[in-house]
Amino acid sequence: MIILYNTLSRKKEEFIPLEEGKVGIYSCGLTVYNYAHIGNLRAYVFSDILKRTFLYNGYKVKHVMNITDVGHLTSDEDSGEDKMEKGALREKKTVWELAEFYTEAFKKDMSLLGILSPDIYCKATEHIPQQIEMIKKIEENGYAYIIEDGVYFDTSRLSDYGKLARLNLEGLEAGKRVEVVPGKKNPTDFALWKFSPKDKKRAMEWDSPWGTGFPGWHIECSAMSMHYLGEVFDIHTGGIDHIPVHHTNEIAQARASTGKEFVRYWMHGAFLIIDKDKMAKSGENFITLQTLINRCIAPVDYRYFLLNSHYRQPLSFTWDALAGARNAMKNLKEKVITIKSSSSNSGEEKVSAYQENFKESINDDLNAPRALAVMWAVIKDDHLGNTQKLDLLLNFDRVLGLGIEDIKEEIEPFSEIEREVKTLLEERQKARKEKNWKLSDELRNRIIEKGYTISDTPEGPVLRRT
Ligand SMILES: [Zn+2]
Repeated sequence: MIILYNTLSRKKEEFIPLEEGKVGIYSCGLTVYNYAHIGNLRAYVFSDILKRTFLYNGYKVKHVMNITDVGHLTSDEDSGEDKMEKGALREKKTVWELAEFYTEAFKKDMSLLGILSPDIYCKATEHIPQQIEMIKKIEENGYAYIIEDGVYFDTSRLSDYGKLARLNLEGLEAGKRVEVVPGKKNPTDFALWKFSPKDKKRAMEWDSPWGTGFPGWHIECSAMSMHYLGEVFDIHTGGIDHIPVHHTNEIAQARASTGKEFVRYWMHGAFLIIDKDKMAKSGENFITLQTLINRCIAPVDYRYFLLNSHYRQPLSFTWDALAGARNAMKNLKEKVITIKSSSSNSGEEKVSAYQENFKESINDDLNAPRALAVMWAVIKDDHLGNTQKLDLLLNFDRVLGLGIEDIKEEIEPFSEIEREVKTLLEERQKARKEKNWKLSDELRNRIIEKGYTISDTPEGPVLRRT
């Protein structure tokens, strides 16, 4: 039995699939205008554990993740600047090049973190017809209206709008939650299709029955999830920040177009917190996987760090905590190497009890910290032979994804170029200490030539890929 916390009911519930032995999962993916920051990546390690738990339980899983490559607006609402166009301008790329570049970077990060690739990655720009179809249905069913700015969803027409977020609609006054778009009927109404400005051609725009423009930022997920998983499907995941607007509106769109339930289990991962603030790309705390690698934290160390707390608990990010995770991984690797180095047989009868315990942990709303504790108990059990230990560890790793199988002596997580850049950075630090600014500048330039930038922060220099 798998128990999952369903945001809809705010309760842990037994998971009952729509179809015996199968599960359909949709995860909101990244907007590809920059690298994923490590807070984004927490959400994908969470959905990976979810998927692996189902696989472990013998389910056939269909996991779909979108790539948001349409330019959405910098605010969560229907106003502000276009993230993609802004990014393209910043990097002197076309929006299409920008999307391609960061999509690949995202996939690389996912694989470095041991995240199983979704069965389907779907790009918003490749599903414009499905989005238009859905808007048409919403309009036919009387839930849409057209104003100068675009086609809008009339949220007052849905009696249970905001149920997921338990929104207090009376408490929302126009202008408080959203910047008011002229002509909008209710503060919670949102764009299904936005018109291009009359005087300007946008980098990304499409024809539609209503006029040239681009889809609103929620429609892609409703349209693509239903396209690949059916009008009603099992699980939808995202970050808790998706609850009040994005997922609330996804539900509204789906219900208005089909009249059906849409998603049975909504699951949300909590934030990674730096200095108690939400990490955001626009803020100062923009830390990527590469930032960690540059500080000798391997992606798998970060994965371990994440697994060590429950996905619904906010997790504080500190360099000390990460160093702790790195040490734990180092310890794990040493133990696994020892276990692999000689075989011995004993404690056969205890194996199934450990397996049971592990399964119970992950099946209890993906309790990864408890599952890790079971893993360590196996490692420390003197009554278990190495053969039994290794079998168990490999079995657990189907869910944990820590790469137990590949652990062998002398693992080198860093590439040649990263090692070189790190050496240069150390030399630059030394030069700066000695106030040799000329040498320090030279070293800085050599680092930049290798495709990195340095920002000096109070905690020391931080490297970033350019
Ligand atoms: Zn989404």
